[in-house]
Amino acid sequence: MIPDLGEEEAQAAADAIRSGWVAQGPRVARFETEFAAAVGGGHGVAVSSCTTGLHLALVLLGLGPGDEVIVPSLSFIATANAVRYVGATPVFADVELATGNLTVETIDAVRTGRTRAVIAVHQGGVPFDTVALRKAADDWGVALVEDAACAAGSMAYGRPAGAEAGIAAWSFHPRKLITTGEGGMVTVASADDATRLKRLREHGMNVSAADRHASKQPVIEAYLETAFNYRMTDIQAAVGLVQLGKLSALVKQRRQLAARYQSLLADINGLIAIRDPAYGQTNYQSFWVLLDGFPVGRDEVLAELARKGVSARRGIMAAHLEPAYADVTPGPLPVTERITRESLILPLHHKLTEADQDHITGVLRELATR
Ligand SMILES: *Cc1c(COP(=O)(O)O)cnc(C)c1O
Repeated sequence: MIPDLGEEEAQAAADAIRSGWVAQGPRVARFETEFAAAVGGGHGVAVSSCTTGLHLALVLLGLGPGDEVIVPSLSFIATANAVRYVGATPVFADVELATGNLTVETIDAVRTGRTRAVIAVHQGGVPFDTVALRKAADDWGVALVEDAACAAGSMAYGRPAGAEAGIAAWSFHPRKLITTGEGGMVTVASADDATRLKRLREHGMNVSAADRHASKQPVIEAYLETAFNYRMTDIQAAVGLVQLGKLSALVKQRRQLAARYQSLLADINGLIAIRDPAYGQTNYQSFWVLLDGFPVGRDEVLAELARKGVSARRGIMAAHLEPAYADVTPGPLPVTERITRESLILPLHHKLTEADQDHITGVLRELATR
């Protein structure tokens, strides 16, 4: 992933600095409103990262020790870590092969009487089945949190991914489609939840520092609960506003490049390229291919691509295989383990050319005949 940053972002950051508002201020407020509108409504609460956004979502839900939260092991490790931040227990569920996502069945297989929430990830931008998971979560009486870190611009059932949320967390890390350097957003349906989240990100204060400084009257704030400093800066939000304006064009370009990859890869035996699920469209945040009877192992494929100047990456990680989770003994996760070991992510960014794609798929075609 190469971030699409240019002169406009540099100018916006410079303007923020010259304005004197560098901490959370009017640009953050605008970015919250515009981002929430772009991803299907609700209220936006800007935070310092998706990870801190997930943490606040679980604080908002009141989760703590003794509570279980079902997460996919197949995800960036922050998804599971957020559960531990509140002292709750992450319980790993398997995913389906076609999308890499949790399903009603894989969640149900690990659900217990202590399950209080599910964090479902839109895997690499591929939307999970929002309608099926929403209904199941409601039937079970458990909260559904969307880890939408990779999902800006993805669609499910004709609506933006994340819109089904009670609550969704987004990332603006440079590896995602749009970036603010570091940064994140929580979107929530209820105004009361947004108010509480704004308090939680800012030391539990009943009035934001931005509002206090803007007021003509002296305002004495109160600290209503023990909370955090998870604020975004106005410099970041200035960059984010410019980036947001590029989102739909970026998604369109990625989808065209992905379609071209799919047709170039179609006649190579032993490779399955990620595609849209029946109910939606991915933004192709990650374009991954699964080896399925390919004659060469995944790590060798990566090494050969590297030798030919192509920086592909391993597929999505599995948290339960990492030392940080060595103390957890999950149930069987065969699909998770298969995807993490036998998939790779091909380069897909705004500077990728058709010649690059021909070269990359050429290396794979040659390997397929070994
Ligand atoms: C990138 C990512 C995160 C973490 O995002 P940050 O903004 O870097 O904290 C969390 N979950 C998933 C699925 C991600 O891909």
